[in-house]
Amino acid sequence: MSGTELFHNIKQILLRDGIIEGEARALAFMLIEEVCQLSRTQILTTDSLAADTGKLTQMAQAIADGTPIQQVLGYAYFCGHRLRVTPAVLIPRPETEELVEWIAESYPPPSSILDIGTGSGCMAIALARLFPSAFVSAIDISDAALAVAQENADLNKVRVNFQNIDILAPQPAMQGAPFDVIVSNPPYICHKEAAMMERNVLEHEPHLALFVPDDDPLLFYRTIAHTSRHLLTAGGHLYLEINSQYACEITSMLLSLGYADISTRTDQFGKKRFVYAKTPSNL
Ligand code: GLN
Repeated sequence: MSGTELFHNIKQILLRDGIIEGEARALAFMLIEEVCQLSRTQILTTDSLAADTGKLTQMAQAIADGTPIQQVLGYAYFCGHRLRVTPAVLIPRPETEELVEWIAESYPPPSSILDIGTGSGCMAIALARLFPSAFVSAIDISDAALAVAQENADLNKVRVNFQNIDILAPQPAMQGAPFDVIVSNPPYICHKEAAMMERNVLEHEPHLALFVPDDDPLLFYRTIAHTSRHLLTAGGHLYLEINSQYACEITSMLLSLGYADISTRTDQFGKKRFVYAKTPSNL
């Protein structure tokens, strides 16, 4: 079979479930590039391709059935780093890269960093690459996520001190504290918002990483803000990804806990998505 024929066949499978033409083209290329280890030009110019068509068909069918491409391929990119993803971790989002970019502007560079609810390890790993001399710790409640995160740290050749800690439970002393920077992208979607979510997110990504109780949308932010008062150095920096609907409430809560220099940032989709706060020296 020629590369063009294979490309056409895979694209047809993807088109069957209502995926639009441009998307099906891009997805078909991604699958063939990965499975056959060929570039797009090579795919389109190869007369006879010895491809594992069974595997490719299965992968295309999984995507047509709603499985995210990152889970089908088994990887995603975050801040230029290739990361393994499984159904145990949230697929790294492009917005979250903007939070890392914000932290990258910190001066002087932090010497210790904690990532709360690390999932795939995406932020901890990107920060460890950005600040090679920093001691980076990351916690999560899920052992399955921590296993993926450790694998990602190894793949990207960085050392991150991963620990299984439930941030909502009373905190024992945490290794590596105090930290210059604490970052978190905790669960922040209310169950009542589920109706507006994409089916592939709802059915394939870990609810543990996504949802917060409807009656307490600030649960993680309040807990993280309280705990961080003890875990941050004086003048330490807290960076959070937030649900844009609660930007005002989160800002007031941080103010009431004595945080200073609070500011919010908008993401590439125009939503208030990030909050920064600093501990004053007398906290
Ligand atoms: N931004 C993610 C989404 O929209 C949610 C991430 C989170 O809950 N922390 O699916």
